[in-house]
Amino acid sequence: GGAAEPPPRLVLDLERLSQVPSEKAGPLQRYAATIQSQRGDYNGKVLSIRQDDLRTLAVIYDQPASLLVDQLISWGVLDPDARRAVREDDA
Ligand code: C2E
Ligand code: C2E
Ligand code: C2E
Repeated sequence: GGAAEPPPRLVLDLERLSQVPSEKAGPLQRYAATIQSQRGDYNGKVLSIRQDDLRTLAVIYDQPASLLVDQLISWGVLDPDARRAVREDDA
């Protein structure tokens, strides 16, 4: 932390997410749908989530957050810049 740049925004591309087979993306699809529902935010093409949500999702997927982020980037669901969200505090 310290004087470093602020963490990148974690912005899910919901259109891409809906195209990933639910066999793989199901838990994240349900998690994102729950957040949309809690916010009453139904019409977005993207959804900004909390840094904390990444840690929760890593537990759900039973993977280090860094690997999960790589997978979401490969699906086109997260921007490559999101890698900075885990590099900094993965220690
Ligand atoms: P909460 O955590 O008690 O937050 C209450 C309200 O505070 C939110 O209502 C929102 O208006 C505001 N708020 C809290 N954190 C932020 C933030 O980082 N940015 C902005 N712009 N506003 C914030 P809202 O949006 O209707 O959400 C209702 C509840 O839904 C939240 O209660 C929380 O329990 C859940 N929720 C919403 N979005 C998320 C999310 O991205 N991740 C998680 N884990 N929960 C969420
Ligand atoms: P930004 O954060 O870069 O978001 C750009 C656009 O992405 C937003 O334009 C909105 O169309 C979409 N977007 C991002 N996150 C979400 C989301 O969780 N749900 C939905 N439905 N759409 C999302 P918009 O709304 O015109 O906002 C322009 C800029 O204004 C945002 O740029 C941000 O810098 C600021 N802003 C808007 N709402 C909030 C907020 O609740 N909290 C804070 N801190 N900034 C906000
Ligand atoms: P944002 O609204 O620009 O908020 C940036 C950061 O400011 C948040 O990062 C959080 O660390 C802090 N923050 C803003 N509002 C609150 C608040 O009411 N309570 C607390 N405890 N912290 C707050 P974070 O948590 O990683 O969230 C990233 C983005 O996810 C937020 O950007 C916002 O776009 C979205 N978001 C997160 N939670 C909520 C929510 O409950 N409701 C809505 N509508 N958007 C949320």
